[in-house]
Amino acid sequence: FDTMDYGPAPEADTEARAWLKSHADGFGNFIAGRFTEAAGRFDTVEPATGKVLASIAQGSAADIDAAVAAARKAQGRWAGLGGPGRARHLYALARMVQRHARLFAVIEALDNGKPIRETRDLDVPLAARHFYHHAGWAQLQEREFPDHVPVGVVGQIIPWNFPLLMLAWKVAPALALGNTVVLKPAEFTPLTALLFAELAAQAGLPPGVLNVVTGDGATGAALVEHAGVDKIAFTGSTEVGRLIREKTAGTGKSLTLELGGKSPFIVFDDADLDGAVEGVVDAIWFNQGQVCCAGSRLLVQEGIADAFHARLKRRMASLRVGHPLDKAIDMGAIVAPVQLERIRRLVETGVKEGAQKYQPDIPLPKGGSFYPPTLLSGVHSASTVATEEIFGPVLVSMTFRTPDEAVALANNTRYGLAASVWSETIGLALDIAPKLQAGVVWVNATNLFDAGVGFGGYRESGFGREGGREGAYEYLKPKAWAARRPRPAPSPLPQLAAA
Ligand code: NAD
Repeated sequence: FDTMDYGPAPEADTEARAWLKSHADGFGNFIAGRFTEAAGRFDTVEPATGKVLASIAQGSAADIDAAVAAARKAQGRWAGLGGPGRARHLYALARMVQRHARLFAVIEALDNGKPIRETRDLDVPLAARHFYHHAGWAQLQEREFPDHVPVGVVGQIIPWNFPLLMLAWKVAPALALGNTVVLKPAEFTPLTALLFAELAAQAGLPPGVLNVVTGDGATGAALVEHAGVDKIAFTGSTEVGRLIREKTAGTGKSLTLELGGKSPFIVFDDADLDGAVEGVVDAIWFNQGQVCCAGSRLLVQEGIADAFHARLKRRMASLRVGHPLDKAIDMGAIVAPVQLERIRRLVETGVKEGAQKYQPDIPLPKGGSFYPPTLLSGVHSASTVATEEIFGPVLVSMTFRTPDEAVALANNTRYGLAASVWSETIGLALDIAPKLQAGVVWVNATNLFDAGVGFGGYRESGFGREGGREGAYEYLKPKAWAARRPRPAPSPLPQLAAA
């Protein structure tokens, strides 16, 4: 994946603009292999400029109904292809993502506001990798999961922070293991899902196997409540996750929830401080902090706190905020004005509750939704900013004295998605790691993802895993096969036999 050729920078967006122009009349929903007419519409907007990118369908309950029917119709034949047959499609989808990597990367950066460097180096290659990985599971399905069958028709609802990657995390395992899908992308970022569906049909994915219905929360709710859906897989906020759990309770639908986080980033006094500072940059300013597993709570050992904050502030002053298509930037735009407002409000609350705010004096582009990298230090562990997910480029910092105190502070949250531990004493790090209540723990690292490793949360960060063998089980249901042994035929001449 490292050798992908993205072509020359100046024309980087020509292809993307041409694709958008080819849909200048607006996108419909993608149902049974083609775009349908939309009854209602809304616009998707470029966060960096506030300009309209495209007109999108507001999916209705009738659209969901049609999409579920198409998925149901396709499911038997799709499952009937067998693992190796489906693997060929999964490989084709992976290659398709790679072949159009530049187009996906540009559209994603425009629609979401994240830097092209990130979409190019992470979102798109990792999405391709998920399709390759799950092609492998499809190929091995009959051998590895002989006592399992597909769940059936799956409704998948995804957020806006990694639109293509979250699609891949959900669609790849579902299709690989014989399910068909109705996908509801986030309303802020529907474009890469529509591009994916269009290209997948061109690549030969049979109609009805993947359907995309765009729209807001009401469209998602219609999908959750549809009686023809066998499973809901949701990634998004804990609040909506809770609602979905209530709605699916007692319906027999399977459910997996990937929800919010407030992950600790623990720095011990013997850590490699330069490495840890770079770790923080990646933990909280990657994707403008709009990352479910962002290391948003810095816990730093008291003796080095001042020195560490000083280094961190120097580094913050060198971060560049700019247009997503500029390859030289570190941070792009916040996804939407409403999200920007939420971040501003939470930072004000933090200051009112006693935190010291640091924002470097760096230029922000005009016209779009931009927010500077922000450090709130001297934060109380019970304060709003220490407990609520901000989902923006805002790091809160607290100090601890002993390893036990670090563990207690780290676990003092309703979430449990990820944690990161920094120490040059590997024994200390390995002692701390199992005590942290989080679905993934990184040592001297952060934000490491792999299609082969199940990702998911504890507590209010949700349940279920995506990726690897654990993730495959989420799209299968167990089935015991048993047959009575035929009874031995009665002897035709019992008297003779006795004689
Ligand atoms: P959100 O919950 O507002 O929306 C997520 C999706 O749910 C969107 O597609 C939205 O349209 C839909 N939706 C909204 N209301 C609905 C309803 N009543 N019924 C059904 N669907 C509904 O979340 P968001 O703001 O898009 O995303 C940010 C959140 O996602 C953060 O909390 C973040 O931590 C979380 N997230 C978690 C993971 C993970 O793997 N754990 C990954 C990425 C993001």
